[in-house]
Amino acid sequence: MEAEQVLVLGLGVAPPWRLVSQHLETERRPHELQLRLDADRGALYACPDCGRACKAHDFAEFRWRHLNFFQHHCYITARVPRTECPEHGVKRVRVPWAREGSGFTLLFEQVALALVREMPVQAAARHMEVTDQRLWRVINHYVGRALERLDLAEVRAVGFDETASKRGHNYVTIFIDLDRQSRPVLFATPGKGKETVKRFKEFLGGHKGKPGRIAEVVCDMSPAFLAAMSETFPEAAVTVDWFHVVQLFTKAVDDVRKAEGRLVKMPSATRWAVLKARDRNLTQKQAAALAELEGGDFLTAEAWRIKEKLRWVRLAETAQAARWRLSHFIRYAREKVGLGPLLAPVLTAIETVEKHSERILQRWASTHSNARMEAYNGIFKAARARARGYRNVQTFITMIYLIAAPLGDLFKSI
Ligand SMILES: [Zn+2]
Repeated sequence: MEAEQVLVLGLGVAPPWRLVSQHLETERRPHELQLRLDADRGALYACPDCGRACKAHDFAEFRWRHLNFFQHHCYITARVPRTECPEHGVKRVRVPWAREGSGFTLLFEQVALALVREMPVQAAARHMEVTDQRLWRVINHYVGRALERLDLAEVRAVGFDETASKRGHNYVTIFIDLDRQSRPVLFATPGKGKETVKRFKEFLGGHKGKPGRIAEVVCDMSPAFLAAMSETFPEAAVTVDWFHVVQLFTKAVDDVRKAEGRLVKMPSATRWAVLKARDRNLTQKQAAALAELEGGDFLTAEAWRIKEKLRWVRLAETAQAARWRLSHFIRYAREKVGLGPLLAPVLTAIETVEKHSERILQRWASTHSNARMEAYNGIFKAARARARGYRNVQTFITMIYLIAAPLGDLFKSI
């Protein structure tokens, strides 16, 4: 095999295209291997619309970055014709080694996409010696096309939650197919609340999904979400994810601790001791703090005991048992919050749970009772890490799709 054939094979070049020259440009750093492709004079080209063999109308020169040839950057140049099809008029032909509008060859893009699935975009860009902006354009293109192909006809149960693209701001709401074990993300959109639910419904409709088929929705207790749900998916049963119930009380305990800490001296290490669940490896110091807290008459300890009792509710095996335990829990907690005004945050949490008790209990009737949004936090964390260094919410969303949406073979979408 001749050396030039190796290069041609690597590019997927087929007649009428052939390699006509190769040159190693040593004036530049890094050196550039420059390959020129051309077609035989008088060759016919397929009309991009119908495939009819047409004569060239005119030519324009294009250049693509290809995978490095050893340590050298590699560029391909070719004069690409426009065909004049009697039916479709004058159109630029497609070349087999690159997609329309891209400054990279397909192989280059394929490697880039494989890398960004494994490492942060900045690192991948460094590795491929290309600017990260150009890399993002490639990613956005393929992810966008793959999303267009997404078929949501079978979706019946959806969970959604909001997460921040950065600590504390730039919210993104993420919709998840609860029947999918892997790559469950269906839709991610900037913002939170009502508008995002409407956008999801539109997205669903645009991807063969039927809003009337959605039988169950799992979400948190935010009034904006719940209002949007009953308006947008009136037929769906709404389940409040247990994770959000625990979250509510964890926050209340923390608020009580802060308020009490302003009045009396708390044992050190109290903060994490009361935030962690009892069975989750407390450090020695935290265990000691908890013991001291429980031994004294701290109201933070009362709040913590209430939170811990939630576990007993969750462990109920039947819907009936859960109903009984939840009402028992609410009675117990209401009694305890009478101990002092510092426990007001816990009272608010109880009232919220009381208000949504049917939706919370729905969990025991649900066929998706194992779905816990908490489990998806790992996905969001990974996406955040991969998109690190970018302010744009869109980059975070693209990364969520790339990591966690059922996009299939990205390369089908040229
Ligand atoms: Zn045509």
